[in-house]
Amino acid sequence: MRIVLVGPPGAGKGTQAEVLTKNLSIPHISTGDLFRANISQGTDLGKQAKAYMDAGDLVPDEVTIGMAEDRMDAPDAAEGFLLDGFPRNEHQAQALDAYLAGHGLALDGVLDLEVPEDEVVKRIAGRRVCRNNSAHVFHVEYKKPQAEGVCDVCGGELYQRSDDAEDKVRNRLDVYHRETEPIIDYYKRQNLVVTISALGSVEEVTARAMAALKDRRTDGAA
Ligand code: AMP
Repeated sequence: MRIVLVGPPGAGKGTQAEVLTKNLSIPHISTGDLFRANISQGTDLGKQAKAYMDAGDLVPDEVTIGMAEDRMDAPDAAEGFLLDGFPRNEHQAQALDAYLAGHGLALDGVLDLEVPEDEVVKRIAGRRVCRNNSAHVFHVEYKKPQAEGVCDVCGGELYQRSDDAEDKVRNRLDVYHRETEPIIDYYKRQNLVVTISALGSVEEVTARAMAALKDRRTDGAA
């Protein structure tokens, strides 16, 4: 199954992606995680991406699209994948369509996580992520770790992403509305979009997402 996950920063894309990809046995492809891994490894790609990420701006398409395609080319993605944070503008969506068409493939669905803007700001300001795995996400109020600053899942150190600071969040939301939201209409024209509310517990949102995706399967799998 090939799925795109969209939604504003703080909608819980990373958290849901982690659970959904386990349930569906497909890899979780997050361009944000790929960039962060490149930054921590000090690669050229990481150096090119860092300033844009720190400002909450989009990394240029020339860098992003190639990186996403390389990841989709990996053997573990042959039977499907969930894209989290890619595409993020219409040009990237067109590039993804061209990539899939070139491989005789198509998307099964675009899952749109909807969440009110004031909730987004609250969620992001208190968000803490694990240095080992950014899908291990906690919140200083809503999802406190058992020991402060320590990941419940793997014991890694929890930190606040530099782009989660409040001024950066405002810019990321602007970028989302300006650049990314239009791809929802782009995919609506292809009848691919299922919109669900991202409010409620992680389990509630996952249940909604699984129900929505069940109707979208085109590969005959259960
Ligand atoms: P995320 O972890 O998805 O919130 O992404 C963090 C940051 O990585 C974004 O604010 C962008 O700077 C960069 N980024 C991630 N995915 C993309 C993309 N598809 N296109 C451009 N920049 C991206």
